[in-house]
Amino acid sequence: MMEAVRPFDEVMDEVAKEGGESLSLCYQCGLCSGTCPWGTVRDFNLRKMLRMVQLGLVEESDDIWLCSTCKACVDRCPRGVELIDVIGSMRRMLVGGGMIPQMQRSAVSNMVQEGNPWGNPAEERMDWAEGLDVKIYERDMDWLLFVGCAPSYDPRNQKVAKALVEVLNKAGVSFGVLGAEERCCGDSARRIGDEQAFGTMVERNVAKFEEMGVERVVAISPHTFHTLKNDYGEFGSELEIVHHTQLLAELVDEGKLVPGRLEKKVTYHDPCYLGRHNGVYEEPRKVLESIPGLELVEMERSRESSLCCGGGGGRFWTETVAEERFSNLRLEEALGTGAEILVTCCPFCLLNFEDSSKGIARDDSTYILDVAEVLVKSL
Ligand code: SF4
Ligand code: SF4
Repeated sequence: MMEAVRPFDEVMDEVAKEGGESLSLCYQCGLCSGTCPWGTVRDFNLRKMLRMVQLGLVEESDDIWLCSTCKACVDRCPRGVELIDVIGSMRRMLVGGGMIPQMQRSAVSNMVQEGNPWGNPAEERMDWAEGLDVKIYERDMDWLLFVGCAPSYDPRNQKVAKALVEVLNKAGVSFGVLGAEERCCGDSARRIGDEQAFGTMVERNVAKFEEMGVERVVAISPHTFHTLKNDYGEFGSELEIVHHTQLLAELVDEGKLVPGRLEKKVTYHDPCYLGRHNGVYEEPRKVLESIPGLELVEMERSRESSLCCGGGGGRFWTETVAEERFSNLRLEEALGTGAEILVTCCPFCLLNFEDSSKGIARDDSTYILDVAEVLVKSL
């Protein structure tokens, strides 16, 4: 539903004030619409939505909440329109006016109040590490491992955290965690457009990093990696931050990890926030290719043209009907390569693919794995 509620120049001024000023460059070619995966699963016209905003018609339909901020359209736009900023600005305008969908509202409220989107108790945040050699971070350690909400609380992603810890310990890496003191990085709150909530979370986290003397962080999630790397600087943070696959590639390069034979055919899915958003394409592949016997086959859409799983931009906290899940399409692509394992390195991708596999793939729990889990199998 579109409603003409305000003069167009007033709306465009507000979009610009919220960071979406590049919308004025749009000349309505429609290339973005042809790129957006939503157009393949439902009636969704990105170009038209932008035009309505240019005309001063504020979008009040649910469509504004569909974007998973995958960045495919941004890379395709010939005019340099920063579509994610434009969509973010519209979301911020709506959130500022109290118009935030219930599911996103509840996830963000849990992030701020309880430190994680599910509202789980902080004292259970470290339960995943029971029985493992995981220390609380101290100043003389090389790395803070920022575990993140999903690897802390979600049973499937806890296995990734455990695998990573096993690998890091095997390589003799000096690292620690914040344990029960760790809180949500705030990625989804920013993508949803709740700047107030995001600011509250970042300020708390930056203060904690300073108090603990943290300088270098390794993140499990590409979303945490992106947010700490690209957004926390606005709040005075000067951390060095890497994604776990980057650290693993370095350890393999330095000979601190020597993988053994693993006769498997695998394909790798580039998470949007690692690949398109941050240009990290090689390191996860380097780790996989360092394993003797492992055959890496590429899907037709890989690297810059990778298909989003649908979990970014705050979408993970909403319901997506089965026939509109990008992860279903992606899993079919992966199966089409003949690979035995679909490898990724993002908690949202992993959970979305696991969900999709219940409906369309074979029932084999080892089929979808994180890079760290594949590596651990080879050691
Ligand atoms: S691709 Fe760029 S210029 Fe073309 S319609 Fe989309 S935003 Fe506008
Ligand atoms: S960022 Fe991705 S999901 Fe969002 S509008 Fe662009 S192509 Fe579509």
